[in-house]
Amino acid sequence: MALRTIVQDGDPILKKKCRPVTNFDDRLAELLDDMIETLADAQGYGLAGPQVGVMRRVFVSLDERDLPEDGELPEGYEPKYLEFVNPEIIMQEGEVLQYEGCLSFPGHNAAIRRPQKVTVRAFDRHGKPFTLTGEDMLARCICHETNHLDGVTIMDLAEFFYEDQEHDDEDESATEE
Ligand SMILES: [Zn+2]
Repeated sequence: MALRTIVQDGDPILKKKCRPVTNFDDRLAELLDDMIETLADAQGYGLAGPQVGVMRRVFVSLDERDLPEDGELPEGYEPKYLEFVNPEIIMQEGEVLQYEGCLSFPGHNAAIRRPQKVTVRAFDRHGKPFTLTGEDMLARCICHETNHLDGVTIMDLAEFFYEDQEHDDEDESATEE
């Protein structure tokens, strides 16, 4: 496993559309392992292929489904991660305006309207299909990362940006994806 460099604002790769994964091989497994390690190191919420310079339809995210509702982490909590290959959002409902960040656009807190709940169909690293439903932050993350695979970022979607002083007391809900 190895840390990969996270592509930053201004790199044209962030505006390109990714191709589907066709080979579920050792190289894909290595990419996903590296992406999870890179995401954990950056203490982010999600990371998509183009953010590490790979133009394939893959992303990883923190699995927050087992976290307590009050956000208090149990002692010795080990974060778990989800991986999605060739993801496709097949259901969405509700609407929430909330702010979010992006590891490729540090310092920007973009207010974006997202569904409250989404169901995504994807493949695991072995090529096995699955569907997963995420709510709230996980739903937001799935949308954010799927957007990356089509070259769409928070800079394209923001209705407005929060200034630093406005989000100071809301920092706990800030995410970097
Ligand atoms: Zn992002």
